[in-house]
Amino acid sequence: MPSPSDFDTANSIEARKYTRTYGLTPPGVDTFAKQEQRCLALLNARKTPIEKYQYLSVLRNTNVHLFYRLLANNVKELTPLIYTPTVGEACQRWSELFTHAEGLYLSYEDRGHLHSVIQNWPHDVEMTVVTDGSRILGLGDLGINGMGIPVGKLSLYTACAGIHPMRTLPLCLDLGTSNKAFREDPLYLGSRRDKVTAEEEKEFLDEMMAALTERWPGIVIQYEDFKNPFPSLERYQNTYTMFNDDIQGTGAVILGGFINAVKQSGVAPKDQRAVFLGAGSAGVGVAKQLTEFFMKEGLSEDEAKKRFWLVDSQGLVTSDRPGKLADHKVYFARDDNDGKQYKSLEEVVEYVKPTILMGLSTIGGAFTPKILTRMAEMNDRPVIFPLSNPSSKSECTFEDAIKYTNAKCLFASGSPFPTLQWQGKDLSPGQGNNVYVFPGIGLGAILSGAVSVTQNMIYASAEALSTSLLPEETAQNWLYPDIARIRDVSVIVARGVIRAAQKDRVDRELALRNISDEEIDEYIRHRMYDPYTEHEKVDEQLRELAQLVGGPTSSHAGSATTTHGAVRNGNPSDVVGKER
Ligand code: NAD
Repeated sequence: MPSPSDFDTANSIEARKYTRTYGLTPPGVDTFAKQEQRCLALLNARKTPIEKYQYLSVLRNTNVHLFYRLLANNVKELTPLIYTPTVGEACQRWSELFTHAEGLYLSYEDRGHLHSVIQNWPHDVEMTVVTDGSRILGLGDLGINGMGIPVGKLSLYTACAGIHPMRTLPLCLDLGTSNKAFREDPLYLGSRRDKVTAEEEKEFLDEMMAALTERWPGIVIQYEDFKNPFPSLERYQNTYTMFNDDIQGTGAVILGGFINAVKQSGVAPKDQRAVFLGAGSAGVGVAKQLTEFFMKEGLSEDEAKKRFWLVDSQGLVTSDRPGKLADHKVYFARDDNDGKQYKSLEEVVEYVKPTILMGLSTIGGAFTPKILTRMAEMNDRPVIFPLSNPSSKSECTFEDAIKYTNAKCLFASGSPFPTLQWQGKDLSPGQGNNVYVFPGIGLGAILSGAVSVTQNMIYASAEALSTSLLPEETAQNWLYPDIARIRDVSVIVARGVIRAAQKDRVDRELALRNISDEEIDEYIRHRMYDPYTEHEKVDEQLRELAQLVGGPTSSHAGSATTTHGAVRNGNPSDVVGKER
């Protein structure tokens, strides 16, 4: 049976004969340029983002290499269509719009038999993204409609880090849903039970983790969009090759930009003063990650921790403020406030005179013009990171940050902002987009054969990201590299991750330990799936085949068929579909 990509109009005549699709596609052999022109015209003919999403989804399923060539060439333009924000609507309407199956669903009713359901997946897997659909983006519990997330995210793993599409497994758990509207929706494709309990989910995940790893011992498992992501991370991070992008990837990408901001600010780590608006799980988590950076820069844990002032809805987090402090805030609570309490961000800014302002508060516009102006008065290069999502909740816009700091700030946001024209120059905002790190973390974990993903590997991904900027990018005060170079960035991130795995002795590919960084980079590139060379590979295989059967592959359909048949009978898996 030919595979869908055997019908690619860029396949050579030889390849068509070999795959027995000769005559089944139009006779012309396309170049990629012509295919791209056609695809983009078809894409642009679709009016709404969801229609474009559907077109791209069909393309991925019918001509996977073309899809990835198109994506590689247009990564900036197409990423918002295959992932956020469009994937949000795709998930909300997944059951309504469903046309073709993608990925694997494991239902609570399958417990006890997950191993055999997993056997149904027809390919070998290196990377899976798994969700239970319980907190999809900011959209709440979407049950099995959450499948759009693993599908989209794995497309990014392939496009950005060259993980082979056939080696990826989108995985959605059907553990019921608390979404009553979906349970009552006749078109909803998941089970209609209420969401299982945390204990039931834990037992299910135990079985799933064991079954996945039993079938594919090298598999890397990335958790995504679980309502409560912490228990599974704690439970599995030392026993399986897994990580959670919401927690670890997010922390790493913010850290990567932060390292560059600190460097470019010209202020030594020991003199930095970071005010965080927002002391929720994200604020405290990010602050802890940045503490690690200050410690690596030579500060003691206590000195590092003292670089942070956290502010929540009640004001500065201090150990002596009235009322009980939530447990997670205690670590950063200030005890040097001489009994004074500071209620508003403005008061805190005057008191602390920060060099860094981070926003994880969900309060849109909380970095007021007055606060931004003060930051610029107090600092040559104030670091301004409004990280709350979506854009409406961002603590300030890129435009305001530039305007009120007179373009002095080093800026990165959680949500995207457009490029800004400022005094005749185009200024681009940094965006702490997880896509800078998770593909490289996955690739590094796969290639090193890591038995677990350690905290040092996550930290290394951030550090590597911070080193990935070109001199011309740093010269423009960018904190993150150009996303168009993401495959190069992923090589650097993967190398950092591999080296950290080696240091932590969790690697199984021991041969990589003794080779230089240049050789590792070359090895990583060599292992990356490249949608442009897939045709060359087919032609290469054909040449090898021709030699094997003692003659050139035929120039006419009939004898090509004979060649095809002869070799297929010999060793099918070596020839057909292996890397295709
Ligand atoms: P959360 O609800 O747990 O925490 C919000 C915090 O903000 C709390 O400490 C709360 O007291 C504080 N807050 C609320 N109103 C305030 C006010 N008026 N003044 C001062 N503080 C106030 O939320 P979370 O999970 O910690 O996430 C916070 C935000 O961070 C979200 O918008 C999320 O999208 C964003 N986030 C962004 C990234 C990223 O990569 N950019 C990563 C993680 C989270």
